[in-house]
Amino acid sequence: MLIDVHGHIGRIIPDRREFIDFTNLIAKMDHWGIDKTCILPLSEHPEGAYLECNTEDVIRACSHYPDRLIPFCLIDPRFGNETNMDFTYLLSEYRTRGCKGIGEFLPKLDFDDPLCLNLYCQAGAFGMPVLFDMQDRPEGYGVRDDYGLPKLEHALRTCPDTVFIGHGPTFWAEISADVPFDNRSGYPEGPVKPGGAVPRLMREYSNLWADISAGSGYNALTRDPAFGLEFLDEFQNKLMFGTDSCLRSDVDIVYPNVAFIRDLRENKKLSDTALEKLEWKNCVELLNI
Ligand SMILES: [Zn+2]
Repeated sequence: MLIDVHGHIGRIIPDRREFIDFTNLIAKMDHWGIDKTCILPLSEHPEGAYLECNTEDVIRACSHYPDRLIPFCLIDPRFGNETNMDFTYLLSEYRTRGCKGIGEFLPKLDFDDPLCLNLYCQAGAFGMPVLFDMQDRPEGYGVRDDYGLPKLEHALRTCPDTVFIGHGPTFWAEISADVPFDNRSGYPEGPVKPGGAVPRLMREYSNLWADISAGSGYNALTRDPAFGLEFLDEFQNKLMFGTDSCLRSDVDIVYPNVAFIRDLRENKKLSDTALEKLEWKNCVELLNI
């Protein structure tokens, strides 16, 4: 069994001819041997409007394949613009309609902005993990943090009942103790220096998990192959497979994250127990699927 915790549908702008609907997503899943996919809306955030897909689109798509597609919901923390805004009515409705988590959370705000902390803690009260994308660029999308991820740590402490699922270039650059100043939103190469913020926080906080999707997750785990395998083994109870595939044309290739997990299994690079957790068990447990 293989579950992708990080999938997308929607219309990519500005070329709106590129449209991934649920049938295209199912075709990719069949091609790659993926049994279930969590679909993450984006366009509740203005920063996420590059892929037109909101929570209603996701719920509608998942209703066609309830055994294979799992909906996430998204709420912008600036909605209402109050640090004590009550999101109960939305969280309650989305949970009732089958949504299993919040994401992809990527407003261009500090990770511990009071508006974000307010939403994180309420999500935790509803048993919904928050899957976020962290970036360092001043433009574009993604929550922000300083070197060493003190703002993420502040949120982990402030909302202990909320599980955070880490993702994105800046999150994964912090797997190493030496984070390049000119490539913190890219794909740093070379050996990982022990003592990075990500392993430290994952060790210290039970509520920090991560998905290993996208170029960023793939790069973090392959730039220093021996370190990558140690990392997967140490954190086997809180890592989840994912792709983050956004393009219709991806159906013509074997996605790098899929090739990576196949390689782990075919070449017995991880124990069967650890691999099963990574492939599906952790996701089933966390999302109560
Ligand atoms: Zn994504």
